[in-house]
Amino acid sequence: QHRQFGHSHSLVYQPELTQYDQDKLSLMAELQQAIDAQQLKLHIQPQLSLTDHKVLAGEVLIRWHHPRRGLLGPDQFLPLAEQMGVIYPLTRWVLERAVQLLAQLQQQQLHCQIAVNLSSKDLLQDELVDTVELLLKKYQVPASLLILELKESALVAEPELALRTLHHLSQLGIELALDDFGTGFSSLAYLRELPIQQVKVDCSFVFDLHRSDTHSAITGAIIDIAKNLQFTVVAEGIEQQEVEQKLLAMGCSRGQGYLYAKPFALDTFVPWMQQWGYSKANY
Ligand code: C2E
Ligand code: MG
Ligand code: MG
Ligand code: MG
Repeated sequence: QHRQFGHSHSLVYQPELTQYDQDKLSLMAELQQAIDAQQLKLHIQPQLSLTDHKVLAGEVLIRWHHPRRGLLGPDQFLPLAEQMGVIYPLTRWVLERAVQLLAQLQQQQLHCQIAVNLSSKDLLQDELVDTVELLLKKYQVPASLLILELKESALVAEPELALRTLHHLSQLGIELALDDFGTGFSSLAYLRELPIQQVKVDCSFVFDLHRSDTHSAITGAIIDIAKNLQFTVVAEGIEQQEVEQKLLAMGCSRGQGYLYAKPFALDTFVPWMQQWGYSKANY
């Protein structure tokens, strides 16, 4: 039985809990209030065409401005939220903000996609597909503008159910991306079975691509196979000009990274986009 939002009384002190456990429990109890208290903030990182630096998409990334613990990154609270079964309300909230942003971009005639990260547990929620469909209707946004990113591990626990959800999302016309590719254990042949359109090469291979023969070989192999299967390849973690050049030479023409922009407040994405159009030549 998962602990749900609104049932914080289940998070009571038990003598056998270690200090570490108690700390985790109190963090989760606080997370339940964090949305309402507006402590959760969304950032966004642009994804660009490496050939002309046009913005193709923005990836939404969550942060928690905790009143006492300071700024927490997603890796500091999402795995725990997922483990405790309280991730879905967060995902729903992020999805709504993302679709709202898409509506706003359309109003300004700024054409780009918005990507949202899903947790593995989200794919096991039967409401997910309906929620996404309703949001797109409510804000009158074409499904093709939304990208949902999932990790290889999302298919491990209940592959059939997860795959069914993916097929339903795909039928809505949403684009699906496989995140952190190369860090999991799925076989390359398995890729073909998935209704995805995008593969994202993990940062860890990209950062030092210009200096590491191993990482360069791995990235090259991922690009080749993904292209053969007609997926778009997106490189994450581009920090150096030389890395961009190598990626282009290897046939990858889409990416994101600090070289172009660090993640910034989602609220400022529209003005950022308007300005980028004029300044992209000298980023
Ligand atoms: P991800 O989806 O693979 O996102 C890319 C991560 O790489 C982000 O970290 C981003 O800030 C970072 N990054 C991008 N370019 C560079 C670069 O050039 N240099 C460096 N050093 N880092 C770069 P972040 O924001 O800490 O997010 C970590 C992970 O947390 C994400 O990895 C994603 O798996 C997860 N996440 C973030 N937001 C959400 C969310 O709303 N829902 C879910 N389920 N997961 C989320
Ligand atoms: Mg991602
Ligand atoms: Mg990634
Ligand atoms: Mg990651």
